[in-house]
Amino acid sequence: KSLRNPDLTLSIQLVPFGDRQKLLLSRDVTQLERVETMRRDFVANVSHELRTPLTVVGGFLETFEDAEQINMQQSRRHFQLMLDQTRRMQGLVDDLLTLSRLESNQERMSEEAVDVCALLQILHKEALSLSDGRHHLSLELATDSKLLGNERDLRSAFGNLVSNAVRYTPEGGDIELRWELNNGEARFCVKDSGIGIDPQYISRLTERFYRVDRGRSRETGGTGLGLSIVKHILTRHQGRLEIHSEPGKGSLFCACFPARRVIESGKAN
Ligand code: ADP
Repeated sequence: KSLRNPDLTLSIQLVPFGDRQKLLLSRDVTQLERVETMRRDFVANVSHELRTPLTVVGGFLETFEDAEQINMQQSRRHFQLMLDQTRRMQGLVDDLLTLSRLESNQERMSEEAVDVCALLQILHKEALSLSDGRHHLSLELATDSKLLGNERDLRSAFGNLVSNAVRYTPEGGDIELRWELNNGEARFCVKDSGIGIDPQYISRLTERFYRVDRGRSRETGGTGLGLSIVKHILTRHQGRLEIHSEPGKGSLFCACFPARRVIESGKAN
C-alpha cells in the first residue's frame, strides 16, 4: 500500500522484508529541484535587471562626486538619464510586488460588477496619451456587459495589453480595442498592426522575464513581467489569454472570460 501526498512529495510504502514487512519512507525531490532552479533563475533575472540601471545611476553620481561645482545646465542630460533609470527600477519593483501578491494567493480577491466600458474609455484615453499621436487608436464597445471581477486587477491586465500594443507598433500603425460577447463568453481584444511575433515564441510569452527582443523591450520601458501578470489575473478570473500573431503584420491579444462572469445589461447573472 502506498500513500502519496502531492504537496509533500512523500511516499510511504510497506515492502516485503524477509518474512516480515518494513515501512519505506521516500521523498521525490524532482519537484523540489525544479522549484529551486526556478527560484535561482528568478533571483538572477531580478539582479540582472536591477544592475544595469544601478550602474548607470552610480556612474553619473561618481562624476559629480569629484566635481568642485555642479553645473546644472550641463548636467541636465545626466539628471534626465538618472531619472529614466530610476523610473525603470520603480516599474520593475512595482511589477514584482504585483506578481508576488498575485502568486501568494493569500488575499481573497474582492469581486464586483466591473463596468468594463467605462474602464476601457479610461484606458483608451491613457493609450492616446502614451501613443502621443503616433498611432491610429480606436475603441469599439460591441456590448455594454459588465464583468464580475476585481476592478484593479482587470485594469492592470487590460492596461498591460494596451501598452504593449502601443510599444510594439511602429509609428503610423493601427491599434483597435474591442469589448465583445462571443457565444456567451466576454472578450477584450487588442489588435495591432505592429512588429508581430514569430509563432515559435508565442507559448513562452507569459513566462516571467521572457522577451522576444530584450533590447527592444528595454528601450520601450518593458520589464518582461507584463504578460505574466496578465496571465495570473486572467487565471484568477477563470479566464484565458489568446494570442495570434504574424511577424511584420501585427498581433491580436484577447482576454476571454467565461459566461458565468458576464453580467449582461438588464440581467443579473
Ligand atoms: P515587456 O515588458 O518586455 O513588454 P511582456 O511580458 O509584456 O514584457 O511581453 C513579453 C514579450 O512579448 C515582449 O518582450 C515582446 O517581445 C512580446 N510582445 C508582447 N506584446 C506584443 C505585441 N503587441 N506585439 C509584439 N510583441 C509583443
